[in-house]
Amino acid sequence: TYNFSAGPATLPLSVLEKAQAELLSLPGVGASVLEISHRSPAFVEIAQAAEANLRELLSISDDYAVLFLQGGSRLQFSMVPMNLLGEHANSADYILTGSWGKNAAKEAAKEGDICIAWDGGSTNYDRLPADGDLDLNSDAGYVHFTSNETIQGVQFAAEPNTGSVPLVCDASSDFMHRPLDVSKYGMIYACAQKNAGPAGLTVVVMRKDLLELSSDDLPGYLNYKVHAENDSMWNTPPTFAIYMLKLVTDWLKDEIGGLEKMHELNKQKAALLYKVLDDNPDFYQGHAKPEVRSLMNVTFRLPDDELTAKFLAAAKEQRLTDLKGHRSVGGIRASIYNAMPMAGVEALRDFMVDFVGRH
Ligand code: PLP
Repeated sequence: TYNFSAGPATLPLSVLEKAQAELLSLPGVGASVLEISHRSPAFVEIAQAAEANLRELLSISDDYAVLFLQGGSRLQFSMVPMNLLGEHANSADYILTGSWGKNAAKEAAKEGDICIAWDGGSTNYDRLPADGDLDLNSDAGYVHFTSNETIQGVQFAAEPNTGSVPLVCDASSDFMHRPLDVSKYGMIYACAQKNAGPAGLTVVVMRKDLLELSSDDLPGYLNYKVHAENDSMWNTPPTFAIYMLKLVTDWLKDEIGGLEKMHELNKQKAALLYKVLDDNPDFYQGHAKPEVRSLMNVTFRLPDDELTAKFLAAAKEQRLTDLKGHRSVGGIRASIYNAMPMAGVEALRDFMVDFVGRH
């Protein structure tokens, strides 16, 4: 079965096989990774290797901390303003390019003053702003944006230019899909369950000077500085998810050959599906404007609900599953993250072409 779920999502087969082979007994340890202390040398080595892989793949310098947290990206919606707003700056700018950006701003507004720098709601989030469209405040604590909107399928090909105000990015659904110039960011966060591993782990990459803004009055778990000072082991971290992140990043390095290669593959995969939309504009209507189409989530509608239902049922018969779009956009969403093999995308492409022919 090829599973096009938006997340938790397909993992590389070789990663699952390795995890399966090692599940009962980690080589050299004689116990399962699920059974050992997070402070044991064997696990500390795994966590350090996972961080080293991330640093290598994304060229993350020592000016940045890498944190392994829990609570999903939703907790980051709150932790970001809790830590980065305060006496030095009491407002932040939010760029709303889809449902997740909107959710992030809604949570942040409970913690501080939020200004909306741009909102694509009037066209149901089918486009992205140009830098000149952004209404930014030079005294904002940070500017928040969502690099890939998972529900609408719109994605920034390059980060917005926010001058000297720190850029905070929710990269949940396109983390590690291409190389990034991390030095352009104050902070990047991503839940793991789309491109980096299983649910339960959220990766935070944060410029170290920003850690100093966290107030000591914050509850310990909600304070980035506490996590950084304790190497993400202030409390028990999600050990199995970190182990899986290590395997996924090994796969990216050793089997894929790095993020440039991954990006190339992602572009090729997405192009196969978008070509079917472009070849059949009266039948498949893409949601995103062509120039901002996501490489990760391909969203489109069929002429009516009956055909959409038929499409989903017929796809399932061919073992192409989890293709139903989010209710706010309707239609179909094919999530084709890093681990979706080319063969899976080709099978969906062939199915889509055949479906037009039959209907
Ligand atoms: N941000 C984006 C872009 C997402 O796609 C998601 C999850 O689907 C989230 C945030 C929320 O993540 P979590 O469910 O881990 O809190």
